[in-house]
Order: sequence, then C-alpha cells, then structure tokens
Amino acid sequence: MKGMSLSVFSGRHTLIDRGERIVTVRDFTPAYIATAASGALDEKMEKAYAMLKKCRLCARCCEVDRTKGQKGFCGTGASALVSSYGPHFGEESPLVGNGGSGTVFLTSCNLLCVFCQNDDISHLKEGVEMGPEDIADIMWGLQRRRCHNINFVTPSHQMPFLLEAVALAAKKGLSVPIVWNCGGYESIEALQILEGVIDIYMPDFKFYRNDSADRYCSASDYPEVARRAVAEMHRQVGDLVMDDSGIARRGLLVRHLVMPGDVCGTEEIMKWLAEDISPATYVNVMAQYRPCCKASQYPEIAGRITAAEYDKALFWAKKHGLRLDQGKNLKGAIRFLR
Ligand code: SF4
Repeated sequence: MKGMSLSVFSGRHTLIDRGERIVTVRDFTPAYIATAASGALDEKMEKAYAMLKKCRLCARCCEVDRTKGQKGFCGTGASALVSSYGPHFGEESPLVGNGGSGTVFLTSCNLLCVFCQNDDISHLKEGVEMGPEDIADIMWGLQRRRCHNINFVTPSHQMPFLLEAVALAAKKGLSVPIVWNCGGYESIEALQILEGVIDIYMPDFKFYRNDSADRYCSASDYPEVARRAVAEMHRQVGDLVMDDSGIARRGLLVRHLVMPGDVCGTEEIMKWLAEDISPATYVNVMAQYRPCCKASQYPEIAGRITAAEYDKALFWAKKHGLRLDQGKNLKGAIRFLR
C-alpha cells in the first residue's frame, strides 16, 4: 500500500495511488446533488443574481447594472445566450470517453482575445436567448444521449443563469458532473458561489506575461488573476480524478494554448502549476493555435506555431512532472505539426 492514500468526498471512498499516478474514483455523486437537496443551491442562485446589479461576475469588475440593461465588457445582459450545444468528441480524453462531452457553448466572453479561435461565438456574439428551463432541458437531453458530463464553455459572464439551470436539471435527475470550462480571468467571489456545484474546473492559463495579456486580451492583470483563480479551483476540487473507465469525475484540468514566439511564458506557467498548485495537475498543452480573429494585425502571432515550439512546451510540462493529456488531442497535434 506504499504511496496510496484513502480520501473521502461526497460521502464515498476514493482510492488514490499517487505513486503510480493511477487516480480512480468509484460511486461518484456530483456535488450539486447534495447542495441542491440542502437548499444551499437556491441561496447560491440568489447571491449570483444579486451580483448582476453591480456586475463583478468576472475579474473585469465592470460594476454595471445588467438588470437595468447596462452592459459591460462582455456585452451580455440579464438573460442567457447560447451559441450551440451537443456531444463533443474533440475535448480532452477524460471528458470524452464513448459518449462525448456534453458541451453547451455560451455566447460572448469576458476576455475577447484578439486571437480567439471561436470568434463567431465570442466577438460576433452569434447565439440565441434562452431561459434557464431551456438550458436545463438541453442538459437533461445531453445526459440522455450518454454524454459523460455537462461542459459549460465560456460560462463566467452567464453564471447566475447557469446555476438556475443546474438547479432545474437536478430536479429532473441530472447526475453527471459539470465542467466549468473558462478563460481563467475569474472573480474569486463568483468562484466561491460555485463551490459545491462544480466538480470539474477546466480553466485556460493563457499568459504568465503581463505585457502579452495586456496586448492580446486587454487584461494586464491576467497572470495574477489566473493564479488566484486556479488556486481557488484547486482548493475546492483538488487534482483530477477518474473512474475505472478513465472518465473524469472531479478535479482540476488546466488548458494551455501554445502561441508563436513563446509570448505566453509557457515554462513559467508549467513551473508555477507544479510548484504552487500540485505536480499532479492535469494539463492539456494545446497545439491548435491559428491566427484567427484579429491576430493578423499582430505580426508576432500572425502565423502558426512550429513543431519545435510545441516540443519545447511539452518538454517544459514533462520537466516539471505534470500529468499530460495523452489522448488523441496530443497525438493529433504532433501529427499536425510534423
Ligand atoms: S461578466 Fe461582463 S459585465 Fe460582468 S464584470 Fe465581467 S465583463 Fe463586466
């Protein structure tokens, strides 16, 4: 039993073998079920909706009253906007399994990066208004289609509506974990409301360099904000754990998009994750950077990355002992760049 530890969450036992990096969990119950049953989810919803009145749902802290039609940096008002939804098989391997990840793409974004890979959804705001009941129906439908989780993509600026949807979906019998797939520019106050609701946090960690964060996302404090946010997420859910089939059940999964010329500070991010969060942090080092959106106006990021740049990023992740996503994304990235 050397190197093994027994931990408990959701009232069930979990066997974790840190030495072999086999991390499994059986008899998983998503956190939101107990939170809804205790009435705490309703209180969280109230707090979240109150935040719309002087909006500080993300680290921009625009302090606009979205309930009165005012709009801040994200341009989103007092109701949910959804761009698309469905089973997704291109996400990280522990989210996909056989049934896919049940993605719900939310319209707009609180970061609006100049190189956004989904700019039709974020900058152009293509989507339709939906009530929390509609989103709960979508979630229930994704579970019925055997998706392994509900994956809210770019959710931070729409958090109150999504919490209400979770409460309604839980009443219908939703029982898969919820993935909070966000940009990393998060409000700690909002994250604390999500404690006991979200089982899997999947933030980006985009930049360790303030000048790059300012230039490409108009958020010079992104590195500090992301460090605080990732630490809070890890405090809530810990390292990523999977079930016997390798499907993620709970924990932190960090994404990092490698960009040309190391404008991100990739090694610093990997080092910080290993030393300040956990060496068992699960990381997807992504190679799919393309000069989308307004990137052509920035010569240093107006092309793709090279195979050597991607190799170096992988080397840094491995050097710092992180758990790398080894699924088809990694294999596809290596094939694509060679
Ligand atoms: S969610 Fe939107 S309005 Fe609210 S603080 Fe963030 S960018 Fe501003």
